[in-house]
Amino acid sequence: MQLSHRITHLTGGGSDGWDVFYKARRMIAEGQDVIELTIGEHDIRTDPVILDAMHRAALGGHTGYAMVPGTPGLRDAVADRLTARTGVPTTRDNILITPGGQSALFASHHAVCDEGDRALFLDPYYATYPGTIRSVGAVPVPVPTHAEDAFQPRPDDIARLASGAKSLLINTPNNPTGTVYSRQTLEGIASVCIENDLWLISDEVYDTQVWQGAHLSPRALPGMTDRTLVVGSMSKSHAMTGSRIGWIAGPEEVIQTLITLATHTTYGVAGFIQDAAEFALAQGTALEDEVSAPFRRRRALAQDILEGQNAVGLIPAQGAMYLMLDIRTTGLSGEDFANRLLDAHRIAVMPGESFGQSAAGHVRVAMTIDDDRFAEALRVLVDFAAPLSD
Ligand code: PMP
Repeated sequence: MQLSHRITHLTGGGSDGWDVFYKARRMIAEGQDVIELTIGEHDIRTDPVILDAMHRAALGGHTGYAMVPGTPGLRDAVADRLTARTGVPTTRDNILITPGGQSALFASHHAVCDEGDRALFLDPYYATYPGTIRSVGAVPVPVPTHAEDAFQPRPDDIARLASGAKSLLINTPNNPTGTVYSRQTLEGIASVCIENDLWLISDEVYDTQVWQGAHLSPRALPGMTDRTLVVGSMSKSHAMTGSRIGWIAGPEEVIQTLITLATHTTYGVAGFIQDAAEFALAQGTALEDEVSAPFRRRRALAQDILEGQNAVGLIPAQGAMYLMLDIRTTGLSGEDFANRLLDAHRIAVMPGESFGQSAAGHVRVAMTIDDDRFAEALRVLVDFAAPLSD
């Protein structure tokens, strides 16, 4: 029996740099003590006050089918949050609640791309992007960004590939680079979208993790509200990765079509999870600040540790829970560096190449272990790199 081309070709094939990650997982399964700085999972769990709200909602009977677009309460809470943060008047009709940001990325591309359409995204990229685009039958087109620009996209690079394309996916604050797109960058991106009639899919799941500068949602820029779909999530902001709760914000007509899609795919999100999310949003920024504080601290620690040495370059981490380290002076690829570091010191980091060719010669470090071990791991990494770069 033959499976569909679409499903068997979802990932691009070939080495994607994730071998190091799986190797680290195998070593851990064998009982080895590996320091894992690979994926974006907090080292804290969901706050018990959120779990209490979830428990209360479940015991209160919110365990049947929930409304497919999301509960009115949560849709309103998300709409109010976006209105307050962006100034763009947003109501529940602009919001679809989704099982996490990942499914929101899928649904957004499903809504705007037809079979064979070109869908642009910026390289380096969050690892699922090309596969998500392929999963709706569209063709992923990476647009390079450059280490020397600290990975701020150049609108001209996007414009060169934009003619005839359907959509552009951006992510700020960025995973894997930690870059927060400037107003100038976003205005340039908005012009390219308007000139080329592109939908903009704006992945803002790290919007509460900004260490330098400010997060600007491109949905708020002139001419962009009607062509932007914002992907949001409680995963990173509230350490609710396992709850699978996120949203899409966009024009009402698009949300209507996405509700039809949800009816035929996810059939909504568990009601008690939505109630917990609504409770969490009602706590304001206090909970979010608590969740993001460790990354802010560790980023400062990393800056101190990496200062005054030349073996490892730090891309200025303006946001998100990762550091992108430039290890090109070692002469190794990100993949070789990560493999050797794992073998020699049992420290697992992600090769830049696993996030696209623009991140070759870099490694991504997730700041997701306690401060002391994190600082020690970084010192070991620098000591490991230093003799290679002599
Ligand atoms: N976008 C980016 C950039 C991410 O890093 C992630 C998760 N690591 C997601 C989307 C998806 O997150 P979730 O599905 O947990 O909301």
